[in-house]
Amino acid sequence: MTELAESPLFAGERHTRVDEARAAIARAVQPVAEVQELALPQALSRVLAADLLSPIDVPPHDNSAMDGWAFDGAALREDEAVELLLVAGTAFAGAPWGQPVAAGQCLRIMTGAVMPEGCDTVVPQELCRVQGERVTIGPGVVKRGENRRRRGEDLACGRVALAAGRVLRPADLGLLASLGGTRVSVRRRVRVALFSTGDEVREPGQPLPPGCIYDSNRYSLRAALQRLDCEVIDLGLVADDPAALRATFARACAEADAVLTSGGVSVGEADHTRALMAELGDVAFWKVAMRPGRPFAFGPLRGPQRPVWLFALPGNPVAALVTFYAFVREALLQLAGATPQPLPALRLPCTTPIRKRPGRTEFQRAIVAADAQGAFSVRLTGSQGAGVLRSLSEANALVVLGHDEGSVSPGDAVTVWLFDGLV
Ligand code: AMP
Ligand code: MG
Repeated sequence: MTELAESPLFAGERHTRVDEARAAIARAVQPVAEVQELALPQALSRVLAADLLSPIDVPPHDNSAMDGWAFDGAALREDEAVELLLVAGTAFAGAPWGQPVAAGQCLRIMTGAVMPEGCDTVVPQELCRVQGERVTIGPGVVKRGENRRRRGEDLACGRVALAAGRVLRPADLGLLASLGGTRVSVRRRVRVALFSTGDEVREPGQPLPPGCIYDSNRYSLRAALQRLDCEVIDLGLVADDPAALRATFARACAEADAVLTSGGVSVGEADHTRALMAELGDVAFWKVAMRPGRPFAFGPLRGPQRPVWLFALPGNPVAALVTFYAFVREALLQLAGATPQPLPALRLPCTTPIRKRPGRTEFQRAIVAADAQGAFSVRLTGSQGAGVLRSLSEANALVVLGHDEGSVSPGDAVTVWLFDGLV
């Protein structure tokens, strides 16, 4: 038996806490090693493979932050206006003036233009008076060195521009481009094999015999995987049949870094899945102290080169997605080599009373909204039944009530995972 199966989590029938399950998963998973080089426009949402050092100073030269007049700020006096002689000409962005500006003179300068030699200050055009060749700057209008961006002020040459493990976002790609880069080293995408189990589950578009339901989990989970930029290997629907399951797991292990399944881990069904898992790897079946989502299995299956991580989620559509966010999302980011990034947890007043007893973590579908004054609060959506996917679709957040927390009265602050931008 491996470390995972021997750990005290699996002693007896006690329920595993959500935080214990998360910690056990985080200890087990190692990032994929392979790296590939991509052109910047292909690199959105990919994980940076190594620290990226800036090859240049940004900005590359001192430049003006304003449209105005550049001059030597040494001329400024605390309580006296200064009068400067205007040099005929303009420093434009991309077209430097190229000549020194003498003391007592000033030069028209545009935003982004290189500061001319002899100048360290820019007075914005609307803050001074111009008469013919004379520019007058009143006392206290500008301080020496103001409205000048220094060379290397955003990023000095040789400094870390982006750290390894960064999941590249739009501003990051802009930053890489601003350094003159055209390509970037990222880890390869994580490959996740996905299938649904259950004799009663049918493919949408097909007839629905009595007692059957359409597969929703493969669609919601595939979309959740797409948001994480995983490569999804869709292995379809698999009946509750050991031979079919064995064949599907064999294929998943040959092709993927992780396998995501739904259904077949509840108490009534786990026995044949358990036997199969004992054959293929070292999977732990947890009864997690949570609602929704109690049954959950995790562990390594034997892959051709390295362990293939199985995440077996409950079949209930809401429980499947909630357990995905509670356990799988961060594990897949870790597998992808990303720096840890838990879902941002806000604290907001809850307007709905919630009955809860300590001893399990509860995830309630909820809506975060602002009142007329712009103050945000959270309220629960109607039905919290574990199979009611519609209420998850209506929700834009989950209220997360921790293991040791009790009931919530209206107005109490609760922890909220916001979905917008994430799911
Ligand atoms: P299970 O975890 O297999 O016991 O399934 C729990 C409940 O979820 C049952 O009512 C199943 O019919 C339902 N279920 C299982 N898999 C799916 C699926 N892929 N899509 C929608 N519902 C499912
Ligand atoms: Mg089932």
